[in-house]
Order: sequence, then C-alpha cells, then structure tokens
Amino acid sequence: MSKAKPFSRPIYITRPILPNLNQFKNKLKQVWQNQWLTNNGPQHQQLEKKLRLVLQVPYLSLFNNGTNALLTALKGLNLKGEIITTPFTFPATPHVITWSNLQPVFCDIDNDTLNINASKIESLINSKTSAILAVHVFGNPCNVQSIQAIAKKHNLKVIYDAAHAFGVEIDNKGIGNFGDITMFSFHATKLFHTAEGGALSCKSKKLKKKIDLLKNFGIVSEEQVIEAGINSKMNEIQAALGLLVLKHWRQEKQKRTQLFKIYRRCLKDIPGITIIAPHLNGKNSYQYLVIRINQEEFGYSRDYVYQQFRKYNVFTRKYFFPLCSQYPHYKYLPSASKSNLPVANQVVKEVLSMPFYGNLSLKDAEKICNILKSFQL
Ligand SMILES: *Cc1c(COP(=O)(O)O)cnc(C)c1O
Repeated sequence: MSKAKPFSRPIYITRPILPNLNQFKNKLKQVWQNQWLTNNGPQHQQLEKKLRLVLQVPYLSLFNNGTNALLTALKGLNLKGEIITTPFTFPATPHVITWSNLQPVFCDIDNDTLNINASKIESLINSKTSAILAVHVFGNPCNVQSIQAIAKKHNLKVIYDAAHAFGVEIDNKGIGNFGDITMFSFHATKLFHTAEGGALSCKSKKLKKKIDLLKNFGIVSEEQVIEAGINSKMNEIQAALGLLVLKHWRQEKQKRTQLFKIYRRCLKDIPGITIIAPHLNGKNSYQYLVIRINQEEFGYSRDYVYQQFRKYNVFTRKYFFPLCSQYPHYKYLPSASKSNLPVANQVVKEVLSMPFYGNLSLKDAEKICNILKSFQL
C-alpha cells in the first residue's frame, strides 16, 4: 500500500449540525417580536412538546445544559449518602454527585458495552447507598432490567445519564422511560443540540412539577417560593435553534450510519482493531465511533496511534481517558482503586474516538482507515 498523505485541513471527531442561517434569523425574528427571551416562552413550549414525542417519554423538562439537569435530578429525588456510578464517563457524571454533597462510589464496567457492570453493583451497596447513577456510554443502553431489579430489592433510586443516547430505544421504548429520571445533553457536540442545553425525562406529573420548580428558583407564583431551587432554564434562543436542529438530526444520523458501515468494512481486517459495536436494530444514537486498540495484536499502543494520527491532521480523542476515578479529588476513594476497577483501567488504555459526523465524506473515512493501516507497515 502506498503511504497515505496527511489531510490538508484538520479533521476533528465531530462537527455540530448547523441549520440554515436565514432560517435561524427568521426564528429569531419571532423571538424579537414576542419580546420573550426566557421563562417557558413559545419556542421553549414548542421544543419541549416536540422533544417529548421524539424521545417517546411521558414527561420532559428542558434545561440550560445537561449538567444542571443532572444536578436537579439528584436534588429532585432527595438523595442522601452514597451514589454508585461508573468511572468511565465524562466528568459531569461524578461531579454532580460531589457538587450535591453526596459521595460517588465507583463500580467497574462491562467489557463489551463499557457501561456499569450490573453484576458488580450489589457488592458496593451499604446502608448509606441511596441511588445508582448509570451512563448509557456511547449510546449503548445499560442493562436496565438488572439495574431495576437491584434498585427494587435495595430500595434505591435510578438515574440515567443518556447524554450520548438521543433517540435510542430499548425494546421499542424511548430510552428515557427507564429508571426514575433520565438526563439528556444538548451540548453542541451531541447528536441533537441547542448549542448548550439538556433535559430530564420522568414518569410522573408530580416529579416533573418538582423538577420545573427546582430549575426556576422554587418559584411557584409571584408571592410563593417553596423550594431552594436554582436557575437552570433553557432560553428562547437555545430553544429556537433546537427547533431547527430537530429537523436535521435524523438525516445526520442516517449519514453517520453510512460512515459507520465504511469504518466497519475498512477496519475489519486490521488485527488488533475492533469497533465498539452499536446497539442492535439501528437504534443507536451514532453519537460516537469508538475503536479499541489491542496493543499486542496491533503492534502499537492507543497513545502511539493518537500521536501518529495528529501528524496526518486527524485529531482523535481518548474518551474517556483519564478515568474519573483517577482525578485528584477521587483517586483516594476506596472504590477508585485499580483493584476495584480492573476492566475500566484496561479499557481506558485501548479506546479511541474517531472522526464521525455527517459532513465527513465516505472517502475521507476510508482514508482515515488507510492511515491507521499504514501505521503497521
Ligand atoms: C456531554 C455529557 C454530559 C454533560 O452535558 P452538558 O450538557 O455539556 O452539561 C454529561 N454526561 C456525559 C456522559 C456527557 O457526554
């Protein structure tokens, strides 16, 4: 094979959906005419309703970002003591636990799905445990049945971080129907986005009411404030953008499905390289395309590949390196020890997020695979 040439421009792992600018200007005109910029305005109301249908959930509340949504979820469920979670996630997940004056307890992950290993949860439960905060990592669903059974047996709440799982279904049900509360992130890097934004889904009207109260200072009416809430409201400009992005996400996902097929075909024959397979039946979010590099079989480490790619103008990411359990403020926790997290500590050395977005051409995806192959020569 001839030596692959570097890209003439930098290739990143993602690019946001950007709707037509004139259409966005028209939306902004509506906002200007209304002179209503935040606090559950018409754009917000429309987006909340539409997203509830897309996500197939009974109740949905919009937020200014996913992290504040998750914080509000913990507050809304009145949690105490310890929360069992995964070390293989974005910092927001354990940080909301700490920020709520609760204690994260790290549980090891499953080697195939990279999600929290449900069979390891029970050994971490004690009298202080109040909840499980699990993440549908890279859009692959957690073992929701097992987690629910454990929660029921020990009387725990279950919160899902579905930041990567927009539009994913489990048994034909929207992924936000599992657990007590599910969080979605609408950050610009996510499949569906509002630049910054997020949402919580839940199954009872009462809980939605509480969530909506908590995200708006606990204000019930002009003269009544009944909870120590915060300000986590999505504004009208975010919502207006979201209404337009919502027209494009299916097509974006369709393009990513094609890219996925190219990557799968081109990487199939490289020894030591495997793709994290998406959840079956095409219902994955296609949020990320992650490969695993087995150093022994491939001949080079993940870190070597990451560095080499940079020379070709390809900027891959080592999601989620380092593990949250390695952060300075967590690494002294008993549950953060490497002996408690053997799988996570191995996986985190092998994973690499590849360029993956609708506007990446199939030819460029093939070229990226050829560059990877060339490292072995
Ligand atoms: C993006 C992300 C978040 C945080 O969402 P923001 O909307 O950026 O606050 C939380 N958890 C995971 C796993 C994420 O990827």
